[in-house]
Amino acid sequence: MTNRREFLKSASFMTLGALAASKLSAADGMKGVDGITAATAQAPMAGSNLGFQAYSLGGELLNDPANALKKMKSYGYDQVELAFYGFDDKAGHGQFTSWGGGGKPTSAADFKKMADDAGIKIISSHMTPTLDRGAKYDKSTETKILDFWKKIIPDHKMFGVEYIVQPSLPQINNLEDAQAVADIFNKVGALLRENGIKFGYHNHSNEFNKVVPGGEAATPYYQRGFRRPGDTSPEPKTIEEVFIEGTEAQNVLFELDCYWTVMGQQDPVVWINKYKDRIQLLHIKDFIVIGASGAMNFENIFSNFYANGHRNWFVEIEDINSGKQLERAEASAKWLKSRGFVK
Ligand code: MG
Repeated sequence: MTNRREFLKSASFMTLGALAASKLSAADGMKGVDGITAATAQAPMAGSNLGFQAYSLGGELLNDPANALKKMKSYGYDQVELAFYGFDDKAGHGQFTSWGGGGKPTSAADFKKMADDAGIKIISSHMTPTLDRGAKYDKSTETKILDFWKKIIPDHKMFGVEYIVQPSLPQINNLEDAQAVADIFNKVGALLRENGIKFGYHNHSNEFNKVVPGGEAATPYYQRGFRRPGDTSPEPKTIEEVFIEGTEAQNVLFELDCYWTVMGQQDPVVWINKYKDRIQLLHIKDFIVIGASGAMNFENIFSNFYANGHRNWFVEIEDINSGKQLERAEASAKWLKSRGFVK
């Protein structure tokens, strides 16, 4: 049994008590109270590059990419994971759409040049195939899905990405659906690997729902709410576990969004360590500005992730129509650097 103190040591999110202790410890040379010290005072971090998810900037990026990328570099960001890229079938190449109807699209090649000029490396990209409404990942959609990935490979080679990550969960009603998605992820990963790119999957909170076997009408375990008395079937797995365990390590890696993991009532550190070879990327996300809420225990998240030998992560900031995206990205960078998480 894990007692309360051990739980607090390992938890990567904080209870109110731990939060209060953490504030005390921050003000008191990381001394802490009630056994919390181990949760906040870690060995010095190895540190890594400062990356950001392009989604965080919304229109401030899309309507003036050259300016936004230069500003991000001046705040210390030196690598980016793309969002907003879309393939234009008529033009035969990809582009970044404008925002809110203003401005004009930026071609993939122009965006790459702007990133190079700013000194920001494009190392990853978020992409999701679009299917007809209600369509699932199965034999009838597999070709369409693979064709989508084939189409976007040339631009991504031009960007020089190491990773392409799918951030959206296909429709899943039961265990068989989740396994069908994992099977297709394996094929997508093999295709990208043959092209020198690693394929990954990024979670939100629904991936921590549990799924049970059943036909089309099966009720997801989480919707049942609890196990019926006398139910002796094996404990159902979460969708995230079905994805991780149902794909080959050489084909599919995982980008853990720490904020959405907490929203799924899970501890990111437990996942980072349970699947230490598979979770190779992180989204560092808080309610808005990174570190400001005090609700995310980034010390534990970073120290465990770095200890597993991984380095690449991306700041993600929500509320992207605020008009304050760049300002909040700067505040986030300052906080992350002040805590030694960045080299
Ligand atoms: Mg995310």
